[in-house]
Amino acid sequence: MAKIRILPDALASQVAAGEVVERPAALVRELVENSLDAGAHHIEVHAQRGGIAMIRIVDDGSGMDREDAMLCLERHATSKIRTKEDLGAIHTFGFRGEALPSIASVSRFRLATREKSALVGTEIEVNGGKLVAVRDHGGAPGTVIEARSLFFNVPARRKFLRTENTEFAHVEQQLRLHAIANPQTAFTLTHNGELVLHLPATRDMLERIRGLVGDELASRLLKVEETTVQGVTVSGYIGGPGMSRSNRQMQTTYLNGRPIESASISYGLREGYHTALMKGQYPVTFLFIQMDPHAFDVNVHPAKKEVRFHDGHSVRDAISRSVSHTLENAAKLPTGHAPARTAPAAPAAARTPQLPDSRQEQFAMPVAASSAPLRNIAPAIAPTPGPQPAAPAVSHRVADVLERIAAGRSTPAIHPQAPEAAAPQEAQEEEEPQAPAKAEPAEPPEYRIIGVLQKLYVLMEGKEGLVLMDQHAAHERVNFEKFRRAIESGGVPCQRLLLPVTLQTTPRDADLLRQNLPSLNRLGIEIEPFGPNIFKVETLPAFLKTDDPAAWLDQVIEELSSLSTKSSSLRLSEDAIATIACRASVKSNDVLSIPEMQALLKDLFACEMPYCCPHGRPTLVQISTSELERKFGRRAPG
Ligand code: ADP
Ligand code: MG
Repeated sequence: MAKIRILPDALASQVAAGEVVERPAALVRELVENSLDAGAHHIEVHAQRGGIAMIRIVDDGSGMDREDAMLCLERHATSKIRTKEDLGAIHTFGFRGEALPSIASVSRFRLATREKSALVGTEIEVNGGKLVAVRDHGGAPGTVIEARSLFFNVPARRKFLRTENTEFAHVEQQLRLHAIANPQTAFTLTHNGELVLHLPATRDMLERIRGLVGDELASRLLKVEETTVQGVTVSGYIGGPGMSRSNRQMQTTYLNGRPIESASISYGLREGYHTALMKGQYPVTFLFIQMDPHAFDVNVHPAKKEVRFHDGHSVRDAISRSVSHTLENAAKLPTGHAPARTAPAAPAAARTPQLPDSRQEQFAMPVAASSAPLRNIAPAIAPTPGPQPAAPAVSHRVADVLERIAAGRSTPAIHPQAPEAAAPQEAQEEEEPQAPAKAEPAEPPEYRIIGVLQKLYVLMEGKEGLVLMDQHAAHERVNFEKFRRAIESGGVPCQRLLLPVTLQTTPRDADLLRQNLPSLNRLGIEIEPFGPNIFKVETLPAFLKTDDPAAWLDQVIEELSSLSTKSSSLRLSEDAIATIACRASVKSNDVLSIPEMQALLKDLFACEMPYCCPHGRPTLVQISTSELERKFGRRAPG
């Protein structure tokens, strides 16, 4: 039965026109969306030479009758919306009726389609927009669409295509985006005749993600329990604290199943991760948002990648809440968050070439100069499980986040390597010792201090190899926990200044200080108004090391004012605690004596979370002996 209608002119002009097919990946997006809209259970994507020479999509969806097959090549021919009202609430991926005619006009195009009940199907050939042939087609029910020699008739556009490898990387990324959102659909991807991805249908979202990103990464994801806040339903999987990337490649978010990017969503994620995410890093997310289609507009971007929310705040809020809630809960699980390893990764996934730096763990950064990723040192320095200490009376959010990091074992020391670099056996070992949510202070491991690199990194010999401690980060951690304990037990010990410091501030900073007087007092900073925009400081935290209290206080004010411009003032004092602790820490170029280093190490291991500083940066990294042996050619790689 014919289903396609030509859009009335008025409506058609309301549909944003634009560059629909700028590169092979865009063809994949449009054609896969069509197949999904057609209810396909299995979608095959075959590409030749990056998709420039050929893209073929084979699906087992509804297929089309002859009339529709002819009509679908007309501009603005769509079966998916009919009226202006439909445009306000789009339930399908497609709605513009633009993709097929656009693709057919810039390629050697073939469409073969058959409805399930039809005795015979239809095959149509179009050459650069000109109809060449229509004939019967005897293939299986479903639709095959093939576009060869993309832009053969538009050399100007062809010039903008990148290398075949780059184009294919985009094709693959595009397919991955769809595959994640549609686990119930099987996907196959080949390039130049070689199998790149084979993803069987599954009901289990995590199973699908595992097939795409590998066992190692999937096992470290946290499940976001489905919650609805103000009509915004959020669910999916996200990386735990400390798991991040230097680009957005793995920050995937979906709105009603459509992969999208949106500032509201990014803000929500950032807010939700809070201190669990290092500056300049992006989280790993597979996050699904479900909303009434009336509450947003997808018709703002030719590639339908961006949406406009009518109420961006509630989206941001819902995401922020689910993410922070998920991270908090992860810390409470007695054995960490890692779901059991069940099925092995789909074999094809291992062979899948990754897009450049998509697997760059942030924690490889401290050793970026080293060519090989670090090996894990969890077995060497993981705290020994002990009984749970009594919960502190006051719970600070920053502290919670930090605890989660320890509980999640996502610290740099523990998961420093890129998954594909891990030998299977080593990866297995990683799962063994599970840190409890709250561990007894660990005995410092037997480390022999060898020396100090760049007045910052303490080099140590451990059982497993070379261990480096960032003395600045370690001090931040130690001071942060000291601060927190002191606040919980009534106040930070302070040192009285020989001469009180007077601070002349701007009216804005004066306001800020007045608002924060109680928190500052609790932090050991006795400060009081001393005139218009002038403050007198009598005491500073006892363990503060600074020759210039006024300059240090300026930094505190600066920190407070930069925090106050951020979205939520609720977190102000918590952030201040962390940042003030850092300001009070030993400077990176302070020279420590050996006993001081030993004391620092001991203090660090007395911390609840020794492995990262309050900003999520690592305090310890290890280069294992076997890694060194490989580097020096004493052992075969792998
Ligand atoms: P849109 O998806 O915006 O409707 P397209 O140009 O992508 O526009 O497709 C036009 C129409 O062709 C669709 O509305 C649909 O009815 C039909 N169609 C396209 N691809 C398929 C397919 N794989 N299986 C069944 N029908 C399809
Ligand atoms: Mg479409």
